[in-house]
Amino acid sequence: MRNDEIERAAEVLRRGGLVAVPTETVYGLAANAEDPAAVARIFAAKGRPSSHPLIVHLGGAQYLDDWVESVPPAARLLAERFWPGPLTLVLRRSRRVPLEVTGGLETVAVRVPNHPVTLELLAAFGGGVAAPSANRFGSVSPTTADHVRTELGDAVDCVLDGGACQVGLESTIVDVTGDVPRVLRPGGVTREDLEEVLGYPVEVPSKSTVRVPGQHPSHYAPRARVVLVEAEKVVAEAEQAQDLGHRVGALVPPSSAGVPVRAHAVVQVPESMDDYARSLFKLLREFDERGCDLVIAYLPDEQGLGLAIANRLRRAAGPRQ
Ligand code: AMP
Ligand code: MG
Repeated sequence: MRNDEIERAAEVLRRGGLVAVPTETVYGLAANAEDPAAVARIFAAKGRPSSHPLIVHLGGAQYLDDWVESVPPAARLLAERFWPGPLTLVLRRSRRVPLEVTGGLETVAVRVPNHPVTLELLAAFGGGVAAPSANRFGSVSPTTADHVRTELGDAVDCVLDGGACQVGLESTIVDVTGDVPRVLRPGGVTREDLEEVLGYPVEVPSKSTVRVPGQHPSHYAPRARVVLVEAEKVVAEAEQAQDLGHRVGALVPPSSAGVPVRAHAVVQVPESMDDYARSLFKLLREFDERGCDLVIAYLPDEQGLGLAIANRLRRAAGPRQ
């Protein structure tokens, strides 16, 4: 990316504007985290209730102490090991963080994104940016600059195109304010990665007990209704629904690779979980683009990245508001 593009985007941030930024997880919609009016524009552009907290993105782990009250040893360890990277830490906020960013909470979510363009932007800007995913509230997160332009259009002052996102799923959110780190949202850093570094088990509350603001059941949903079935039944269920007159999108497991499927749109799930994570949101968007009204999918094994993929699919299949 050219230096003048970065400088122009940094100027947009200084003036209280919105910049869509590439990260390794998904595209973010960034504003100066210390400017409550700019932060308010994020909520307006997304159509997101202002009680839902945003993640503060920093240019390096060395800035963490400016934004939080204190950093417990476990948080320090995780930041050193995983930043820049797809891990968000929830800590008690310092006074530098306006309540507009945290949805009124005394805690703040912080991370250092791993993308050269956004790290350059943060260095040029010199502060922190508040950034949720750059999509309308409740819809699928964008993993390309085109997704952002299509969905947010003129609501964004500037879109930095950093190519397709390498991880493709949102960051793992870990609450490190208590005695034991708790995973509030599974994501690009796996539970196994966290436990290896910490040397002890983390808490992963079951989906029924997680009550994080901004974690609605129907998050990450395409327009088409998503129905989850057992992996071995995807083909049969898809064909049955297609025969009943639906325009079916089928997410076919690797175990059924090559089997012909009578459906409107057939997508083969990649064998590698990294590839699957990277392409999941694009695949869900494609079902919409191809006019599907029903998507038949299955949950992968909930190990490694499978935990985050299953979480997003459950939410996509969850009750709509
Ligand atoms: P998004 O960037 O669109 O994935 O949304 C930000 C996510 O961070 C939401 O799921 C919020 O619930 C979560 N989050 C942000 N701040 C906090 C916080 N202080 N405590 C718990 N979760 C948070
Ligand atoms: Mg989001």
